[in-house]
Amino acid sequence: MEELRQCDQEIFDLVQQEERRQSEKIRLIASENYVSAAVLQATGTVLTNKYSEGYAGKRYYEGQQIIDQVEVLAIKRAKALFGAEHVNVQPYSGSPANLAVYLAFLSPGDTILGMALPHGGHLTHGSPVSISGKYFDAQSYQLEAATGLLDYAEIRAKAHACRPKIIIAGHSAYPRILDFARFREIADEVGALFMVDMAHFAGLVAGGAHPSPVPYADIVTTTTHKSLRGPRGAMILCREKYAQAIDKAVFPGIQGGPHDNTTAAIAVALKEASTDEFKQYAHQVVKNAGALAEALMAKGYRLITNGTENHLMLVDVTNKGISGKKAAKALDAAGIVLNYNAIPFDTRKPFDPSGIRMGAAAVTSRGFKETEMIEIGRLLDMVISDPENEPLLVRVAKEAKELCKAFPAPGLEHIS
Ligand SMILES: *Cc1c(COP(=O)(O)O)cnc(C)c1O
Repeated sequence: MEELRQCDQEIFDLVQQEERRQSEKIRLIASENYVSAAVLQATGTVLTNKYSEGYAGKRYYEGQQIIDQVEVLAIKRAKALFGAEHVNVQPYSGSPANLAVYLAFLSPGDTILGMALPHGGHLTHGSPVSISGKYFDAQSYQLEAATGLLDYAEIRAKAHACRPKIIIAGHSAYPRILDFARFREIADEVGALFMVDMAHFAGLVAGGAHPSPVPYADIVTTTTHKSLRGPRGAMILCREKYAQAIDKAVFPGIQGGPHDNTTAAIAVALKEASTDEFKQYAHQVVKNAGALAEALMAKGYRLITNGTENHLMLVDVTNKGISGKKAAKALDAAGIVLNYNAIPFDTRKPFDPSGIRMGAAAVTSRGFKETEMIEIGRLLDMVISDPENEPLLVRVAKEAKELCKAFPAPGLEHIS
């Protein structure tokens, strides 16, 4: 990064500091990951210089000889990996991908049915503060109070009552596998489209460690930068009969030119995700999340749904005499980075809720296995049990750094 250093010392220094932070801290944020050096390189290419509004063979600018091939390759790989009939790789990120689906199939005021945000759904699934909740009649389903599980009977009753045009499955904080067949059945009963937002678990689907929604859903959206371990971006997978509607909604519906450097990096990530190594990775993510969940429950932590079947878990820290925010802040000071998170039926405010969320995708990318996850559980518990003990936080941060040192993160091997 010599040119960057010479041009802009301030940004260069900040990038270096961030590299060090990512390298030396235990990253448990469920939506984050470490991309490979190959994905980083593709992201930083001159493809960022090109404008290519439109789609391969039908562009509005000349000079697409190379870019068309890049985008076609990304699409081909996505189709093969997920068994999808049609794929659009242009959405700038997960939120615009979802907005494009709504534009393709809804008029303002139409009804959608998604998981409530405080129960693990995403902002873009109809939260009142999001365009998805402001421009549409957004109805939501909740989790079952006693178990923290999805209540399919309630989803069915809600769907029959509100007759949505689209039923959305998918989440940012639900630790269980979704019953796609059941959702499909409900959608068919009420004549709704069935959309799955697999942003969080797309990598697990790619690696065969989670059932695929593709055979069940009309449309599947996903980010490319979470468990899928690609650059920041998104894709929309759909049945052939919706291909035109989706493509038109992305461009010219809500976007202009695609980020071609990102498209190239998505193609690289998809190639990586097609390997046996990635299959092992995806299965190890699930095993690692399970190991941390078990370790925490053995120490008396209350996990929503009593465990996890995917890469993430949601922990109610109330019985440890601490709020989620206070726990998250103390842990960050101790070299363990995660986020505070509302739990289902949380009685505390969203800005200082009762829970913390953590995921295993990033730490598994650096090679952590069950042994290291159990060690993380021990460190977490030490901090949460004594969050104001500054010397303890410093000691744990040192231990976290040591643990990380033995497992250099992808793309950060040069940090010592
Ligand atoms: C992260 C996420 C998104 C949004 O992705 P951005 O890239 O942050 O816009 C959408 N849906 C779900 C379920 C997510 O977890």
